[in-house]
Amino acid sequence: MSSILGTYKRRDVSFSEGKGVYLTSTAGEKYLDFVSGIAVNSLGHCHPYLVEAIKKQSEKLWHVSNVFTIPEQERLAKRLTDNSFADFVIFVNSGAEATEASIKVARKYFFEIGQPERNRIITFEGAFHGRTLAALFAANNKEHTLGFGPRVDGFDQVPFGDHEALKKAITKNTAAIMLETVQGEGGVRVVPDYCLKPLRKLCDDNGILLILDEVQCGIGRTGKLFAFEWANVDPDIVPIAKGIGGGFPIGACLVNKKVAIGMKPGTHGSTFGGNPLAMSIGNAVLDIILKKGFLENVQEVGNYFEKELKELQKKYSNVIEQVRGIGLLRGIKLKIDNNKFLDHLFQNKMLAVKAGDNVVRLLPPLIVEKKDIDEAIRIITKTCSEF
Ligand SMILES: *Cc1c(COP(=O)(O)O)cnc(C)c1O
Repeated sequence: MSSILGTYKRRDVSFSEGKGVYLTSTAGEKYLDFVSGIAVNSLGHCHPYLVEAIKKQSEKLWHVSNVFTIPEQERLAKRLTDNSFADFVIFVNSGAEATEASIKVARKYFFEIGQPERNRIITFEGAFHGRTLAALFAANNKEHTLGFGPRVDGFDQVPFGDHEALKKAITKNTAAIMLETVQGEGGVRVVPDYCLKPLRKLCDDNGILLILDEVQCGIGRTGKLFAFEWANVDPDIVPIAKGIGGGFPIGACLVNKKVAIGMKPGTHGSTFGGNPLAMSIGNAVLDIILKKGFLENVQEVGNYFEKELKELQKKYSNVIEQVRGIGLLRGIKLKIDNNKFLDHLFQNKMLAVKAGDNVVRLLPPLIVEKKDIDEAIRIITKTCSEF
């Protein structure tokens, strides 16, 4: 019996090695990995450049404390702000911590400007913001919150895509609207550009803040450094995590200078957040993602993947109901049980992960090539033919 508390339903397989888009199991079987640690291994497994970066830094310095100035952290923050709407960054260790920090920044901003009654945040059905208490009740997924009451107050939820309900939900107590630019866990649902632009305007008209959770869809996943760039909008606060560490736990909260005013010394902290080891790896990930042509390639391969998946949908309309997503954040909504499909996919030596709404999520590393997509399509085709 395992001594791990059973909070996960785990597949009975373990891996001993990873290289690029492939994982090798302890039984010696090779799998095409389109999970990427759930959009975490952005550069695939054991990317030589990241291996070199972690080796180098691990021989110099791992951890000090945020009571000291950390040059690697200054550098990563500068690069994230230079390449986005943001003026400042808070470093943490996970996505949930990044969304929690975002909530704190929003509330503290209104406190600071003398409107402490503005402390509620509007969220959307199907959202996922992490498993800490506030993030849990912000997303309000009934399966996730069950038994964890009393509910954390301060969140008002509206249906995904219901513009009228959203407008009605705004009150004099609303501080912010928080949503994922692309819902990941909820079923790979993209918020279209024609919604994001009016959403920004709605926030401006009502003097409230826009928080875009890019923990999953940020850091190149959609073919832009941040998914909101597609709509040409500037949010106020953006939590990121998954892809920025390439497999090392890093989270961050990006904010503009307007909302930053409340966050004075002592208002937030993290023992581990932004330590030299983590920051060196984050910088190495950016070295590659920000290289000229890298994101264009993500777009190109992502479009190719979409085209091929849509062909498959035509051929196997009995299995695939819809192809969703953008860039290399893809999903297929199925007409058959997604768990069953994933079991078959696994038997055929490909790894993917489920999402809400009976979707199978396909999250290859951003270094994936067309030949790997062809291999994925071959396996998905075989899997479809089994139903
Ligand atoms: C994964 C995820 C989180 C939570 O990240 P953790 O690192 O698991 O805490 C938050 N928001 C979104 C959109 C995510 O996909």
